[in-house]
Amino acid sequence: MLKIYICPECYNYRMVSRKPDAICLHCGERLEQCDFDYGVYINMTENERNEYRENYKKRMLAYGEKVLEVKSKETSEGTFL
Ligand SMILES: [Zn+2]
Repeated sequence: MLKIYICPECYNYRMVSRKPDAICLHCGERLEQCDFDYGVYINMTENERNEYRENYKKRMLAYGEKVLEVKSKETSEGTFL
């Protein structure tokens, strides 16, 4: 089953099959796995994909700020994926 990954840097989606260390083709950043898999992804509308991307983006930005503030709490709060 294909998995859907998203880039934390440029927010491009990428489909990956059984690769734990997926890398973004655009910027070389390590990809994060999305909450949904390929079967769900192909049934999503463009709007839904954009919406997920926007939410992910907000989460990444909020997370990034949090990491800067309290680096020691990273492990307990870094499990959102
Ligand atoms: Zn990227």
